[in-house]
Amino acid sequence: QDVVNKIAAGEIIVAPVHALKELIENAVDAGSTSLEILVKDGGLKLLQITDNGHGINRDDLPILCERFTTSKLKTFEDLTTIGTYGFRGEALASISHIAHLTITTKTVESSCAWRAHYADGKLAPAKPGQSTDPKPTAGRGGTQITVEDLFYNVPSRQKAFKSPSEEYAKILDVVGRYAVHCGGVAFSCKKHGDSSISLSTSKDASRVDSIRLIHGSAVANELISFEVSDQNLGFTASGYASNANYHVKKTTILLFINHRSVESSAIKKALEQTYSTFLPKGGHPFIYLSLDIDPQRVDVNVHPTKREVNFLNEDEIIEAIRTEIRIKLSEVDT
Ligand code: ADP
Ligand code: MG
Repeated sequence: QDVVNKIAAGEIIVAPVHALKELIENAVDAGSTSLEILVKDGGLKLLQITDNGHGINRDDLPILCERFTTSKLKTFEDLTTIGTYGFRGEALASISHIAHLTITTKTVESSCAWRAHYADGKLAPAKPGQSTDPKPTAGRGGTQITVEDLFYNVPSRQKAFKSPSEEYAKILDVVGRYAVHCGGVAFSCKKHGDSSISLSTSKDASRVDSIRLIHGSAVANELISFEVSDQNLGFTASGYASNANYHVKKTTILLFINHRSVESSAIKKALEQTYSTFLPKGGHPFIYLSLDIDPQRVDVNVHPTKREVNFLNEDEIIEAIRTEIRIKLSEVDT
């Protein structure tokens, strides 16, 4: 059973950035307005995320890392939304099977913070022989999740990582995506031991300001906004797209479907084609696109390792979005 859990966890989390993405989503779901991320060795040695969200009740700590239990408490609708991305209350459980996991958390009702350690889905002692009970500790409101020695018991995965700086780049990319998408949340990310912060956004920054901070003024100054929806196709889309003056060497698409950062090669292909054929000077797009689709229409059968998402009426929805972007682009004086 344990081997099965370990394999399943390794399939869901194949790189530190996948664990971090889940932790970011949890922190945002908890209503946080501040997320501080600390990384050591590309996340393999340490991934720590500190939020100021609503925290976790002490009584929930013993079952927190059991598979499926937490999401079972939610409504069916929630479950389908989460299921879309291959996760059903599995993130913390999975992490606990392939890393040393420590959670320190405080709700407003609690007079102190509680710290718990986990291994293989269950509470674990801080040191061998000690009690597994969560311990009271000092702490601010919110939650701190510490993931140490990721893949310590999965040698094959460890070997797959060549460079911590490559993993860190992927981490910064994902943090940057959520920083743009999550208005009202301040993000910061830094390497352990470094005095300088790699990325830091303000919670009061507008979306364009966050794009400017992360992707530079050249792109931020050229953005046009768009919005399109269709009741029959069951979607609402909005975002920003670079106009013809901005020449990006590489396509950048920040895609969120139902507020989760995902990839869609169909969307990427369609937008690249729009830019290369429609714009007089050609070029690659920079697009931030937030797409809300009825959860029932998003493919729930996508394998967890696949970051790709499929949805019903994909061609029609993509066509509607690219048409709207094309109209907005043609209104710009180029
Ligand atoms: P899921 O998010 O699918 O429920 P997870 O394993 O990601 O499963 O998280 C389990 C549960 O732990 C969440 O449902 C939530 O109740 C709680 N939780 C996790 N992270 C946080 C956090 N940063 N703040 C508050 N609660 C959290
Ligand atoms: Mg989660």
